[in-house]
Amino acid sequence: MKLQRDYDTQNPTPAIVTMNVRLTPAESVEDVRELTLRIDRLPYPCAAGQSIGVLVSGPHDFGNEHHMRLYTIAECRIAGGRSFIDICVRRCDYLDPINGERYPGIASHYLCDQTVGGTVTLVGPYPMPFDVPDDVTSNIIMIGVGTGIAPFRAFIKRIYDEIGGWKGQVRLFYGAQTGLEMLYMNDKKCDLTNYFDQDTFRAFEAVSPRPHMGDEISLDKSIEERGEEVWSLLNQPNTYVYVAGLSRIKEVLERAMTKIAGGEKKWRLKKRELIAGERWSELLY
Ligand SMILES: Cc1cc2nc3c(=O)[nH]c(=O)nc-3n(C[C@H](O)[C@H](O)[C@H](O)COP(=O)(O)OP(=O)(O)OC[C@H]3O[C@@H](n4cnc5c(N)ncnc54)[C@H](O)[C@@H]3O)c2cc1C
Repeated sequence: MKLQRDYDTQNPTPAIVTMNVRLTPAESVEDVRELTLRIDRLPYPCAAGQSIGVLVSGPHDFGNEHHMRLYTIAECRIAGGRSFIDICVRRCDYLDPINGERYPGIASHYLCDQTVGGTVTLVGPYPMPFDVPDDVTSNIIMIGVGTGIAPFRAFIKRIYDEIGGWKGQVRLFYGAQTGLEMLYMNDKKCDLTNYFDQDTFRAFEAVSPRPHMGDEISLDKSIEERGEEVWSLLNQPNTYVYVAGLSRIKEVLERAMTKIAGGEKKWRLKKRELIAGERWSELLY
C-alpha cells in the first residue's frame, strides 16, 4: 500500500481554464475553488482519483525553474473531442507566528487566481495514490477533510461500480469547516448517495462547531461517537485505513484514536501494527 513518489515531469501539456468558481461561502475563512481545465491534445487518458501536476514557471526563491504541485482529479470527461478535468484547490497561506508575515503557497494561489481563458501547464496524470485491497472481504475506513474527499469518491466508485460485490465494511468519515463547503457533498454533486443503499457502506459527516470562527472540524467527535465499531474494525486483520486531506487532521485523528483505543500506548501499538502490515495509508498536505 505505497504512495506514488516518482513523478515524471516530461511531456508537459497546456490546459485552458474554462471555469474557476469558489465553493466556499464568501464569509468562510477557507478559499476552496473548483477549476475546470480543458486539454486539446488527445488522447489524454485520465480518471477521477488520479492526480495531475501543475507546473508554475519561475523564477522561484530557491532557484528552481518550475514549482510543481499535485492536485487530485475530481472528474475527467471527453466532450467535443477534448478532455476536461475538474480539480478542487484550497488556497494555502502560511502565517509566520513570529514576524506575522503571510507566505502564499505558490501553486495554489496561481490556480485560485486563474481567470477563464488562462493557460496552465500540466504534467502527469499520475496513478491513484491509494490501492484498493485485493480481497473483497476487506474492511475499509476512509477519513478525509476538505479536498481530501476527492480520492475517496473515486475509491468508493471503484469498489462498488468497477469491482462490485464488496463484502467488507466500508466507512467514510469526512469533514469540512461548514456544511456549505462540504465539497461535492451538496445536492448537485453528491454522488455518494448512489451507494447509500449498499449494506456495507456508511458515511459520516463532521462540520466545525463555529464555522466562521475558523474552529477545527469536529471529526474527532464523529469518530468517537462510533468508537466501538471503529475500534472493533481496527482489531480485525483485514481492515485498511486511508487518511487524506489537510495535515492538521493528523492531530485531531490521533486524539480521537487515542480515546477510542482507551489510552496512548494502546493506540501507538495498534497504529504501529497497521503501518507494519501496510494497512495504514496517508495522503496529507
Ligand atoms: C497526491 C496529492 C494530491 C493532492 N491533491 C490536492 C487537491 O486535490 N487539492 C488541493 O488543494 N491540494 C492537493 N494537494 C496538495 C498540493 O499538491 C499542494 O501541496 C498545496 O496546494 C500547496 O502547494 P503550494 O504550491 O500552494 O504551496 P507551497 O508554495 O508549496 O507552500 C506550502 C505551504 O507552505 C507555506 N509556506 C510558504 N512559505 C513558507 C515559509 N517560509 N515557512 C513556512 N511555511 C511556508 C505555504 O503558504 C503553503 O501553505 C495534493 C497533494 C498530493 C501529494
